[in-house]
Amino acid sequence: MPEDHANSWEARAAAHSFYGFTDLPSVRERGTVVVTHGEGAYVVDTHGRRYLDANSGLWNMVAGFDHPGLAAAAKAQYDRFPGYHAFFGRMSDQTVMLSERLAALAPFNDAKVFYTNSGSEANDTLVKMLWFLARAEGQPARRKILTRKNAYHGVTAVSASMTGKPYNEVFGLPLDGFIHLTCPHYWREGRPGESEAQFTRRLAEELDEVITREGPETIAAFVAEPVMGAGGVIPPSEGYFQAIQPILKRHGIPLVSDEVICGFGRTGEVWGADALGFTPDAIIASKALTAGYFPMGAVILGPELADRLQVAVDAIEEFPHGFTASGHPVGCAVALKAIEVILDGADGAAPLIDNVRRMTPVFEAGMARLAQHPHIGEWRGRGLMGALEAVADKDSGTPFAGHLSVSERIANTCTDLGLICRPLGQAVVLCPPFILDDGQMDEMFGKLETALERVFAEVAG
Ligand code: PMP
Repeated sequence: MPEDHANSWEARAAAHSFYGFTDLPSVRERGTVVVTHGEGAYVVDTHGRRYLDANSGLWNMVAGFDHPGLAAAAKAQYDRFPGYHAFFGRMSDQTVMLSERLAALAPFNDAKVFYTNSGSEANDTLVKMLWFLARAEGQPARRKILTRKNAYHGVTAVSASMTGKPYNEVFGLPLDGFIHLTCPHYWREGRPGESEAQFTRRLAEELDEVITREGPETIAAFVAEPVMGAGGVIPPSEGYFQAIQPILKRHGIPLVSDEVICGFGRTGEVWGADALGFTPDAIIASKALTAGYFPMGAVILGPELADRLQVAVDAIEEFPHGFTASGHPVGCAVALKAIEVILDGADGAAPLIDNVRRMTPVFEAGMARLAQHPHIGEWRGRGLMGALEAVADKDSGTPFAGHLSVSERIANTCTDLGLICRPLGQAVVLCPPFILDDGQMDEMFGKLETALERVFAEVAG
C-alpha cells in the first residue's frame, strides 16, 4: 500500500465512503484504487497507474471508458432536455424511441418495456408486476419465485431474495417464497458417474418436483440468467433450458431471462437466450443497455405477459409503480446510441458485436491454454466472458482451503501488474470490454499467467 498520508486519496476514500461488496481487511492493507479516468479498455488511478480492466467495470462498460459517441449522445441530450419522468401520461420522445428499438430487438413480438435505474430494480419491478397480475387474475397465492443457487439478481430486498447466495443471510433474507434450485454447473454439482445429460435431466426433474410440491398455482415465475455471471460465469449444462422450459410451460409458469450481463452482445448474440437457444417470456436488461454510461434497467415483457398485465391494469386504470428517473431522456438517448454502437456500428465504426465474435475464439484459446495449469480445475465461459477455477488438486477438483484466499490473491497480484480481474469463489473471472484488440488480449492473458504462477507457487509450493 502506498504511504498513508492523511490527505492521500486512499485515506480520504476510507474516511467518508462506506464500502459495499469489498473485502475490508484486504483494502485496509492495500488501499483503495481511486480511479480518475479511462482510456479505451484501461482505467487510470490517482497515481497515474494504468489498469487493463478485464471486467469492463462491473460487466457493463462494454464500449470502453472514453467512447466519444456515447459521451456526445449524452451531452446532446443534456443540452436538448436534461431530465424528465414517465408518470401521469407524460414521457420523453427518447423514451418512446428506445421502447420501439427494444421491442424490435426483443426475441418476441409486441414487447412492452418498463424502465428502472438498475438491474435490481428491474427484477423488483418484474416481481411486483407478477404479484399485481396474480391478484388481478384472482390468484393471489401465485407469488413464489423460483431461481437457482448461486444466481445473482441484485441487492434490493426482492432481488436479493432472488439471488441464491448465502451472504444474504446477514440481512435475514431471502424473504419467504423465494426458492433456489440446484445451480446447473455440471463440473461442480454433477454426481460421481453422472453424465452431463443425466445431470440436466436430474435438474429438470427437481424443477418438476418442486413445482408439484409447492403447487403450480403458487408460483409466479422462474427467473434465470442464460449464463450465470456473478455466480462465477457458469454456462448451464447441455440442454438445460430445453429440458426445463417444457416443464414450466406445462405448469403455466413464465420463464424470465435475466439478461443484465448477457444482453446486448456479451455472448456474441444479442441476447443470452439466443445463444442458449430458448425464447423467454420476459427479459430483464441493464448494464450494456447503456454501455454503462448511464444507470438504467428495463423489464421487457413478451406479448402474453404484456397483454395480461394491460388487461389487469385497465381494470383499475393505473399501475401504481415507477421511479423518478424511469425512462430518463438522457439514459434513453445514451441507450439508443449504445445499441447502435454495439449492434449496428456507429460513426463509421464496425458494430462491437462483430469484435466480440471475432475475439471469442482468441479468448477461448487463451483460457484453454491457462486451464492446462495443474492448479486450474476447469475453464468455462461463453462469448467474451469466462472463469478459471483454481483447485488444490486437479483430478479430484478439490478446492484450496478457504483461508488461503487464492482467487483474491490472484486478483490482487493482477492489480499490481496492471490488470483488473475479479475473484468469485475460487474462480477468477474475465469479462473484458467488447473493444478488446489482439494486443490487449495478449496482455490480459500474459499478466494473468504471471499472477497464477506467482500465487500457485506461494500456496502450493
Ligand atoms: N441481474 C444480474 C444478472 C446481474 O449481474 C446484476 C448486477 N451484477 C443485477 C441483476 C443487478 O443489477 P444492479 O447492480 O444494476 O442492480
